[in-house]
Amino acid sequence: MSNHHHILCIEDELDIQEIIAYNLHKSGYRVTLASDGLSGLNLAKKHHPDLILLDIMLPNLNGMQVCAQLKADTKTQSIPIIMLSARSEEADVIGGLSQGADDYITKPFSQAELLARIKVALRRKPTTNTLTIGSLSLNLDGYSCSLYGLSVKLTTTEFKLLHTLMAQPGRAFSREQLILSALGEQSEVVDRNVDVHIRGVRKQLGAAASVIETVRGVGYRCNPNHFKTPSSEAL
Ligand code: CA
Repeated sequence: MSNHHHILCIEDELDIQEIIAYNLHKSGYRVTLASDGLSGLNLAKKHHPDLILLDIMLPNLNGMQVCAQLKADTKTQSIPIIMLSARSEEADVIGGLSQGADDYITKPFSQAELLARIKVALRRKPTTNTLTIGSLSLNLDGYSCSLYGLSVKLTTTEFKLLHTLMAQPGRAFSREQLILSALGEQSEVVDRNVDVHIRGVRKQLGAAASVIETVRGVGYRCNPNHFKTPSSEAL
């Protein structure tokens, strides 16, 4: 049987890694293995697995640091993480959960229990097509926008402009490029109208309005660092 889910297992104890990989394969999962924190983090960013099994005591970066970095990055923050811990690491586990890990399982664990936890975590994973930067989230299926969990009312044009900017954070778009990317060649929105629509988006975003920056002499860009606090920047 094949369920096509891709799982990244970051575990430095090779015998445990081997048993987990064997059982995941047998259950139809695709598996990628890493034996230290840093390569695990890089593989997560490269492959965007559906779920990560993350040991706590690891060489290079430990599991807590890997978890914190994954949860601080908008591209990886929605990947469910199950921490694998030794019984003596209970205190670390609490820290892991506060960093955003979804679940933990204490060694030694049965493979049946591990598979059951994986199923639950995968089911919890939101299946909607969303684009998220910090606390600002676009639901691309429903054309809805939320900020800090609260609904933001945007017109379709405003939504498309915001989506285009958020899809390439940091990139400066000219007004013409924005119209073309967001609305297509047939659009009746002309250059100077973009400013009106952007003003509309900013008004709706309120305190988060500066997530859309004006780039003088060019146009606009989405500032991906807008939601970063000094403490998350330090990670
Ligand atoms: Ca370990």
